[in-house]
Amino acid sequence: MSARFLTLAALLLIGGGAIWWVQRTAAPQAPPGVHERAGSDSQSDHDASPAPVPSQAASSQALPKPSEALAQTPATGPRRESSRRNQEAIEHLEAGELEEAIKLFETNVEEHPDEPVFQQNLAEALLRLALREYDHEPEVAFAHLERAIELAPARQELLPLRDRWHTAVQAQAGFAEDQSTHFVLQYDGDRSDLLTLGYREVLDDLENAYQDYGEFFDVFPVEAGRPKFRAVLYDREAFDQVTGIGEWAGGAYDGTIRVPVRHFQRDRNRIRQTLRHELVHAFVDEVGGRGVPGWLNEGLAQYLSETNLSQRTRALDRARSQLVGKDLFSPTQLQGSLAQISEPEQVAKAYDQALAFTHWIAVHYGERTLVRMTQASQQGSDAAATFQRWIGVGLETAHQDFVDSL
Ligand SMILES: [Zn+2]
Repeated sequence: MSARFLTLAALLLIGGGAIWWVQRTAAPQAPPGVHERAGSDSQSDHDASPAPVPSQAASSQALPKPSEALAQTPATGPRRESSRRNQEAIEHLEAGELEEAIKLFETNVEEHPDEPVFQQNLAEALLRLALREYDHEPEVAFAHLERAIELAPARQELLPLRDRWHTAVQAQAGFAEDQSTHFVLQYDGDRSDLLTLGYREVLDDLENAYQDYGEFFDVFPVEAGRPKFRAVLYDREAFDQVTGIGEWAGGAYDGTIRVPVRHFQRDRNRIRQTLRHELVHAFVDEVGGRGVPGWLNEGLAQYLSETNLSQRTRALDRARSQLVGKDLFSPTQLQGSLAQISEPEQVAKAYDQALAFTHWIAVHYGERTLVRMTQASQQGSDAAATFQRWIGVGLETAHQDFVDSL
């Protein structure tokens, strides 16, 4: 897949970053409203709405197709110079030099306003720029996406993306923005709970987590050149609109950390843990890209997000006890996003299993093994092969040992 496809998949995919917030001390229940939500809103054609967490497969179906226009040369009309410029712009585009490409395509569109190939090519370049910008400058990105759609109205597949971004930009309009060393935080500046102390505490939480995960993964992404991570706090309703996830979701990561905040002080601990959970997904994305197994991604998010040791032990004990006597997934079955599982009880089981098995590996084979497995897909390997190579035991065998330990 091209880099662009990957970026768009990351933008659309909420599933990998969503937290299962059903109270799991009780028997797993269908999250309220989740089934009703599936396919019931404007985002149903991509992965943000299906219940309980949306599927990667659904999102990839919604990805824009590469513009075929890029390979074409206008049949008639434009002079040789324009064709040469078009070719040069395409080379910039494919090299990721989007600003250069756009400048050249713009010139061609100005000189030949009736040539559709030039318009389509400019649209493609603007789309790629918008995808690149969205995490950091959503309003600017939205404007570029709108212009791309104007230039290439036939690209209907872009319309759901525009709707989604429009919702997000609207929901964040007028939000206050504060920054720390590694984060940009946006929130409703009319809310006194957030304005007085909340935003500072949230930034502190995120900075503390950043240090923890930087040490754990041995990567400090912002120091390595990544733009600051963006986090947005919404009220519950706006969060639901922006992410399309149901009531059960505590937070989401789709390139931006998104967290609903109803009562800041009352929910203080849960909010901290959610921020930490979503930031793990952001780090996993940086360290391992999209090839990281779903169980490992969710396992690490749960394993690393709890700072209180006795709480962490309680969560682990609870997860293990929930798994006793159940027919468990194999690691291979949990390779994809846990979002692909639709049955709520199965989702709860998958999350429990992800936490318990991740913890098992940390205890028996070391946390470093977890990091190596996360890095694997960026190094042309995969988590299971990396485990086998470092440990000398197959991952399925280790998993069977884990199952026998329950
Ligand atoms: Zn998660």
